[in-house]
Amino acid sequence: IEWMIETATKRYPLLLGDGAARELPSLLRSLACPPGTKLFIITDDTVAPLYLDEVRATLAAAEYDVYAYIIPSGEAAKSFDNYYACQTAAIKCGLDRRSVIVALGGGVVGDLAGFVAATYMRGIRYIQMPTTLLAHDSAVGGKVAINHPLGKNMIGAFHQPEAVVYDTSFLRTLPERELRSGFAEVIKHALIRDRRFYDWLRAEIKTLADLRGEKLAYCIEKGIDIKASVVREDEKETGVRAHLNFGHTLGHALESELGYGALTHGEAVAVGMLFAVFVSERFYGRSFAEHRLADWFAGYGFPVSLPAAVQTRRLLEKMKGDKKAYAGTVRMVLLCEIGDVEVVELEDDNLLTWLDEFSR
Ligand code: NAD
Ligand code: ZN
Repeated sequence: IEWMIETATKRYPLLLGDGAARELPSLLRSLACPPGTKLFIITDDTVAPLYLDEVRATLAAAEYDVYAYIIPSGEAAKSFDNYYACQTAAIKCGLDRRSVIVALGGGVVGDLAGFVAATYMRGIRYIQMPTTLLAHDSAVGGKVAINHPLGKNMIGAFHQPEAVVYDTSFLRTLPERELRSGFAEVIKHALIRDRRFYDWLRAEIKTLADLRGEKLAYCIEKGIDIKASVVREDEKETGVRAHLNFGHTLGHALESELGYGALTHGEAVAVGMLFAVFVSERFYGRSFAEHRLADWFAGYGFPVSLPAAVQTRRLLEKMKGDKKAYAGTVRMVLLCEIGDVEVVELEDDNLLTWLDEFSR
């Protein structure tokens, strides 16, 4: 499948399907990257032994000048140190303004490599090659960032890729925990925007084992479609794009509070979505009990409550530092109906009470 992602500032192609990586050379030529262009692949040490040789060989056979830099795998790698190390390697390889960075990996590689591209020589081009289910979300839309010990994704940029090449055959090696993590964002896309897709998920994806073949492909397509439609409306998050943060206000606070990598991003977001629903019920005075969302999530193996060790007051402080908060007032995405959300300002006292109730 090939489709165009459109934002206010840019249109770029997305290739999706088994074997999409083989289309890379022809895609590059269509993007005015002639053979001889320096390509700098950033990947991690789990993905590299699986797919780096294959991608490198495809590009080298088309006479591109290919370099690679390998970071450790895992959320902790989305750090300033690795960002700096990538920049150093890029300078040593002599990348220039016509060079292209290739982000081969999950959301960690995509966010880090994208931020390297956004800032190297004030910004060069890059291509997203997602290798996780989660990256159906992270590879589209141009948000790139690294973490700060004090807050998730605190240092970053908006920098759209030249293209997204999503070779779904790469997903076959994805461990179950990572499939689950990515599925959290699929669920998020359904909950914020698409009641019919939500109903389909409830009927068709009973367990994680159902997430393969055509059903997996459908989840990826729907997820990208919803993500792309939000980004088309609001590239720089002045409005509806904030809806994509459903579950992320608490989710990001948890990731940073527990130490990056303790929970996967999707696990943290799953708990965060359940908390957002819990708050929605109290804020709007209505109930989503009939949907039994916690049971549904638990059936996939998601955590459905706060880890015992975590202090709610510290979580609240982290939530106040979230990028959606203004002047220290937490703004959360709440569920109005399945498929419909809005951003709401919440008072600290209420939030702390609800965090305490939720943690019981
Ligand atoms: P990840 O990149 O760490 O990948 C998860 C794990 O799977 C890693 O250990 C990785 O080495 C391994 N892996 C990757 N591809 C594999 C494959 N094909 N086979 C086997 N193992 C493979 O994490 P992720 O879940 O892909 O992404 C999470 C990150 O994405 C978070 O940092 C999150 O903040 C970010 N994110 C960004 C956006 C955005 O809009 N920029 C959106 C959502 C999430
Ligand atoms: Zn996310």
